[in-house]
Amino acid sequence: MTARTDGPPGPTVLLSPPDVGPLEESYLIEALRSGWVAPAGPDLQAFEREVATRVGTAGAVAVSSGTAALHLALLGVGVGPGDVVVVPTLTFIATANAVRYTGARPVFVDCDPQTGNVDVDLVADLIPRLRARGERVGAVVPVDMFGSCADYTALVPLCADAGVPLVEDAAEALGATHAGAAAGSFGQVGALSFNGNKIMTTSGGGMLLSDDTELLTRARHLATQAREPLPHYEHRELGYNYRLSNLLAALGRAQLVRLDGMIARRRQLRDRYAKLFAPVPGVRLLGAEDSGANCWLTVAVVDEDRSGWRAADLAAHLARRGIETRPVWKPMHLQPVHVGAESLVTGAAERLFARGITLPSGSALREPQIARVFAAIEEFLTVRTGGSAA
Ligand SMILES: *Cc1c(COP(=O)(O)O)cnc(C)c1O
Repeated sequence: MTARTDGPPGPTVLLSPPDVGPLEESYLIEALRSGWVAPAGPDLQAFEREVATRVGTAGAVAVSSGTAALHLALLGVGVGPGDVVVVPTLTFIATANAVRYTGARPVFVDCDPQTGNVDVDLVADLIPRLRARGERVGAVVPVDMFGSCADYTALVPLCADAGVPLVEDAAEALGATHAGAAAGSFGQVGALSFNGNKIMTTSGGGMLLSDDTELLTRARHLATQAREPLPHYEHRELGYNYRLSNLLAALGRAQLVRLDGMIARRRQLRDRYAKLFAPVPGVRLLGAEDSGANCWLTVAVVDEDRSGWRAADLAAHLARRGIETRPVWKPMHLQPVHVGAESLVTGAAERLFARGITLPSGSALREPQIARVFAAIEEFLTVRTGGSAA
């Protein structure tokens, strides 16, 4: 089986394609032959145990997506209708949507311009202001942006002192660390994603992580339609069909075996981008100083005033050569679906949205594809900077 790293048809180099091969094939076939096709099974339990062990939490619940994990995580800490939840404005839409699913309202907070992670001072400002107005702050949901942990050294005591649950959106950050602890372990509950473009994939999936075994038991119950353990179908509360299938858990177990190798490849790629851009005025890599990052996606930030060109110019150049890039997440306070939500913004996320370019970063990228990307960037820089970076 060959991993499809080229999009169909033709010569596209993708940003972060799934990295799967013979190991995934053998795990999947074994699960299939075992007869545990659906719904639960031994791979599901083993996958939960293995990820929890890796992250260092008491347990885990595997679900059908990172979004589902966030939804159940928020329910697990008691977020509900009427609450407000503090969410970074720079994130993927799922973080904010999960808040809305519970009936709570997100309040968006801007990011640190250097790291792209939530600005802790703004969170510290906001919580008492919301409370002074009589709001119940149901949770703070820091996001580990592009695989680099938020500042938990400050956020954990801040939330503890304020008595607000911390729900960690570690969807992008499996394998990352901060101050010696693993991404996914910092909140009352953490959420991972195994979507196809993430650091490891189950083709689609997610996981809740927590030391609170009661919270996990309840999440598992809600994820299986809140079905009571009775022979007839008895349901006392509103549940969801969120459980991950045993087959996909088997795929996840194979990916977990390869996780460190996949992170190493992404880190290598980031180091090469860092070298390439080091002599280029006005260009830096987002969060590049974080040695604990899992290097999920490498983002170059381009200051047009110093570079003389924009991130969008490089994106257009690479697109013409069949190389996929993306802007960083469009901030939530600019998203039509969340229009009207309250926000505390400084302009940092908007600037990153305007200046950031997410570069091909996948561990499945092979040397000829990587060489193509670097040659195309060098070609662009040679034209734009008169050869200084070539
Ligand atoms: C990918 C992602 C999610 C959602 O995960 P899915 O598995 O796609 O539902 C949530 N938050 C962030 C920050 C993400 O990047």
